[in-house]
Amino acid sequence: MYDFLIVGAGFSGCVLAERIATQLNKKVLIVEKRNHIGGNAYDYYNEYGILVHKYGPHWFHTNDKKVFQYLSQFTEWIPHYHRVRTYVDGMLLPIPINMDTVNILYGMNLQSPQEVQAFYDSVRDKSITKPQNAEEMVISLVGEDLYEKFFKGYTLKQWEIHPRELAASVTARIPTRTNRDDRYFTDTYQCMPKYGYTALFEKMIKHKNIHILLQADYKELTGVIKFNKMIYTGPIDSFFDFIYGKLPYRSLRFEHETYLQEFYQSYQQINYPNEYDFTRIVEWKHATHQKHPYTTITREYSLLAGENDEKYYPIPKEDNHERFRLYKKEAEKEKNVYFCGRLADYKYYNMDQVIARALHIFETEIAGQ
Ligand code: FAD
Ligand code: UDP
Repeated sequence: MYDFLIVGAGFSGCVLAERIATQLNKKVLIVEKRNHIGGNAYDYYNEYGILVHKYGPHWFHTNDKKVFQYLSQFTEWIPHYHRVRTYVDGMLLPIPINMDTVNILYGMNLQSPQEVQAFYDSVRDKSITKPQNAEEMVISLVGEDLYEKFFKGYTLKQWEIHPRELAASVTARIPTRTNRDDRYFTDTYQCMPKYGYTALFEKMIKHKNIHILLQADYKELTGVIKFNKMIYTGPIDSFFDFIYGKLPYRSLRFEHETYLQEFYQSYQQINYPNEYDFTRIVEWKHATHQKHPYTTITREYSLLAGENDEKYYPIPKEDNHERFRLYKKEAEKEKNVYFCGRLADYKYYNMDQVIARALHIFETEIAGQ
């Protein structure tokens, strides 16, 4: 008999398991349908001994001190700033767009943030005061040409939806800079777990009150395992047997290559908005700081998730949100089930947001019961 059955061993499920086991001294069973813990943040050593993220690159960054301190119980960190270049007009240029991006691209010599802002002001669409979609978001900040070169092709490849049809929040993830800062994020805490994410997860859920069952779908366990309450971190539409239809997701196909050389490219990530079918090439060792004679790179191809594909990205589009709201109403009627996470909330959360949300649910809804 378990106090809690937790469906899913990603950040949402593992954080809640850890809190319930250590703070409430209650018994938890985590049921995970994959053959490993960690959800989409899982990493592993490939056949050459290179640490690779199985479900795409995961760079930890947050402004949330509480989340950082919480995670620091389970890992040491390697300080690391994520830096990306994008291949445009035959050049590798900084993204987020910054002073160097526009100087190199347009052969200018802007020297101060004021000059760069004046340049953006000369090209941006000032009539857009409240961007309504992912295209307007970019054009309102940097204008048509930079949008066409850096965002349009990448977004079409990534989502197969015109940026005009996607929520503004999608491209709002990428800031615009007037200085030379070429870090992808400006958050206070930016680092990588020293021994990888999987090691972090192992430490997080190593507790006598936590049991884990891998390669098991919770639906197959109905009636077999007894529990008081459930925490569900899987896809919300599947929980309700798709009564309102399916919520669509983007999936990814990864193409890995390993070379007997120290590095393949000069940056940890290079984006390809306009050439090739893949969106980006990631080279892991730049981020993990692993020393190894070989190096592995991964190309990412985006696709609409079919029946048997992994679900990666909820698609931020109004009709999908409408459908999600129908499921959310159903979820509110389930008094014995807590819904939490990227799949259950159908939301494009980063890791720190998912962790903050799990901690919040624990404190406000679970601990007080
Ligand atoms: P998940 O990690 O998806 O875990 C849910 C788990 O539930 C899965 O393991 C699944 O197998 C399991 N499950 C589902 N249904 C069932 C069932 N019926 N029975 C049993 N188990 C089930 N965030 C960042 O902060 N930085 C990044 O750089 C970053 N990069 C990303 C790159 C990619 C390609 C993707 C897809 C995401 C990225 N994220 C990043 C986001 C991050 O992956 C998520 O915020 C986080 O992993 C979500 O955790 P979760 O526990 O909610 O969901
Ligand atoms: N994006 C783009 N060009 C880029 C990088 C990002 O058009 O070079 C857009 C694209 O729509 C992408 C979104 O911005 O899906 C968010 O980018 P991010 O790097 O945060 O994507 P993630 O790492 O979540 O896949």
